[in-house]
Amino acid sequence: MVSRVIPVDSFDLVIFGGTGDLARRKILPALFRRFVAGQMPEDARIVGAARSDLDDEGYRAFVREALAEFVPKAEAPDVDAFVGALGYVPVDARGTNGWEELAKRMRDGVIRAFYLSVGPGLFGDLAERLHQYGMADADSRIVVEKPFGRDLESAKALNEVLVGAFDESQIYRIDHYLGKETVQNLMAVRFGNVLFEPLWNSQYVDHIQITVAETVGVGGRGGYYDKSGAMRDMVQNHLMQLLCLIAMEPPSKFDPDAVRDEKLKVIRALDPVAHHHIVRGQYSETKDTASYREDAENPRSFTESFIAMKLGISNWRWAGTPFYLRTGKRLRARSSEIVVVFKDAPHSIFGADQGTHRNVLTIQLQPNEGMTLDVTIKEPGPGGMRLLDVPLDMTFAEALGPEAEEVPDAYERLIMDVIRGNQTLFMRGDEVEAAWAWTDPLIAAWQARNDVPQPYDTGSSGPEDALMLMHRDGRRWRDIRE
Ligand code: NAP
Repeated sequence: MVSRVIPVDSFDLVIFGGTGDLARRKILPALFRRFVAGQMPEDARIVGAARSDLDDEGYRAFVREALAEFVPKAEAPDVDAFVGALGYVPVDARGTNGWEELAKRMRDGVIRAFYLSVGPGLFGDLAERLHQYGMADADSRIVVEKPFGRDLESAKALNEVLVGAFDESQIYRIDHYLGKETVQNLMAVRFGNVLFEPLWNSQYVDHIQITVAETVGVGGRGGYYDKSGAMRDMVQNHLMQLLCLIAMEPPSKFDPDAVRDEKLKVIRALDPVAHHHIVRGQYSETKDTASYREDAENPRSFTESFIAMKLGISNWRWAGTPFYLRTGKRLRARSSEIVVVFKDAPHSIFGADQGTHRNVLTIQLQPNEGMTLDVTIKEPGPGGMRLLDVPLDMTFAEALGPEAEEVPDAYERLIMDVIRGNQTLFMRGDEVEAAWAWTDPLIAAWQARNDVPQPYDTGSSGPEDALMLMHRDGRRWRDIRE
């Protein structure tokens, strides 16, 4: 099967923070891959903008180096052609330097997109200058990155800055988890088949687990992380978004507001979480690796590098089905997955000695994207009726051909969606605020009681109590493995 690549309309994309880490590691490699795939039109233009004193040639050399590092298989003729589309203008977001020159580079009659790959403290300055220098029009798009605030108040303030300068329909808040192929496949599986939706409720689903495990520590970004912690850094955004997609009602159509309205309803239906349903942890040192507190350079830090929680959703579909979420650093393996565990068959005709067999739908997002459904079959052979659970591979890489195995990076899809003007996979302002409104009281409660995170071993699955969170309910986490 040959995948169809439909080129997007021509565009001018300005990357503010074009010399930063995110631009080097993610944005520019993603654009390059789309260019090679034939999706980026040849006359599209990308302009890097930051304070560093570079010219077009200097920036092209910078991007060549980034591609050599992050797209090692890039072929020289492709790189030569791609860098031809690049330019650079030195600008200071807080000053007047460079803005007139940048405005002159904008062409009429093409889509204009502005990627604010800078700290959120600069959003207001950039928005103001984009208008002052006549660069933004009613059709321009603004792309912003997490962290989208650190609590409800700061998120509201950021939203006000953006909404004061642009219409909500122009603002693309990126959560790269939503750009993953499997996340969209999840929606296709749920809403494109009759098979799952009738079972997708508390009558048939025993529980749902969402795990985002990392092996890395907080390393170089310890100072930043220590002010944030796993709840703010991962749960409020990535895990919450995954939870919404799993739990939401079918939208009436696959349209940005219809999808986001349903996600918002999930966040608003979340139950308050009892403190004994939250486990916070901090990784300890090993002979080769530092402890969290050493990495954070804060010997008295109470910030969590791990969190596990049990959640309930108060609506007709999910009342009674627990959702278990966990995320942490320095865990056993790098793995992100959603596991939907269905209930036992109401009656086993094969006898009690066959043990328990359950249908389990596993949606893996990292390191490999894929989806499997465990189904119970008869173990082949003449030994009588013995039952066996086997995974049915629902990624269908074989059926779809080798191209299906080349899953595009989330940023590739998301940036092309920005150009196409499709906001479905981006967070709306009210979603972000609702997630903070749910998160804030939990953080305030553990701060008020001086909650101390439990230590856990590097390379483990987190603190013992996180295992107990499920054991107490007669359930167990799936092993964290790649
Ligand atoms: P970074 O490496 O510190 O880069 C910041 C960029 O902003 C640089 O290009 C810097 O260039 C530019 N800049 C700083 N002050 C400026 C000013 N006054 N005027 C114009 N440009 C200015 O940061 P980053 O890691 O790329 O992150 C960018 C944003 O994405 C942040 O909000 C971050 O939280 C978010 N984010 C990053 C990642 C990641 O993996 N890196 C992941 C998720 C979200 P000059 O010094 O040359 O001006």
